[in-house]
Amino acid sequence: MANPRLTIAIDGYSACGKSTLARALAKRLGYSYIDTGAMYRAVTLYLQREGVDIGDQEAISDAMDGLRIAFRPSDNHVLLNGEDVEREIRGLAVSKMVSPVAALSAVRRAMVDQQRKMGAAGGVILDGRDIGTVVFPDADLKLFVVADLDTRVDRRLRELVAAGREVRREDVAANLEERDYIDSHRADSPLRQAEDAILLDNTHLDLNQLVERGVELVEDLRKDPE
Ligand code: C5P
Repeated sequence: MANPRLTIAIDGYSACGKSTLARALAKRLGYSYIDTGAMYRAVTLYLQREGVDIGDQEAISDAMDGLRIAFRPSDNHVLLNGEDVEREIRGLAVSKMVSPVAALSAVRRAMVDQQRKMGAAGGVILDGRDIGTVVFPDADLKLFVVADLDTRVDRRLRELVAAGREVRREDVAANLEERDYIDSHRADSPLRQAEDAILLDNTHLDLNQLVERGVELVEDLRKDPE
């Protein structure tokens, strides 16, 4: 394969560096990047704004018909029914509700369907929790990123502070741990490493090292597709 447009799946726990890796790798390869976590966050914001009871399956299904999620091509910000909600979805209010919402099958069905359509042409990197196991089980390259909890909390805290948010370390730590638990114990598409995913431990790597490792893996694959 001369210069194939690969499909790359990156999964892992919360704040392990998946999206930083995915974004940087997509830029290097000229691929598009789909932040599937942002999609679940946007759904959560929508349900919060509409006051939908997440225990009411019918209300959830109806709500899914009323929302459109897209990424703005110029900056990849997530758009909820046309509105840029990129900043709002990163706050703790959404972070606290997103895992229970993402455990709902009606929500997952709609998101997975859309993700498959968005990634169908290849030349794409998706990051999330179920990309290599459910969304694109035949992805050309699957990475599973891990990092120590302390490292993940530090990194997420730095990001939030840099974005001008006032947050306490213990709240960030509690949120990451709670999401990891719910995400890996839910019945529908639990977070787990796909059998054929390559494990990348990001605890002691800086961004450059992580991206270089990703690029190396893509180049190996291009040389030797089997
Ligand atoms: O990636 P991020 O941390 O922004 O994802 C937010 C939440 O969205 C996760 O904690 C998880 O509950 C949900 N999610 C998911 N499946 C994906 C991506 C995210 O369930 N593919």
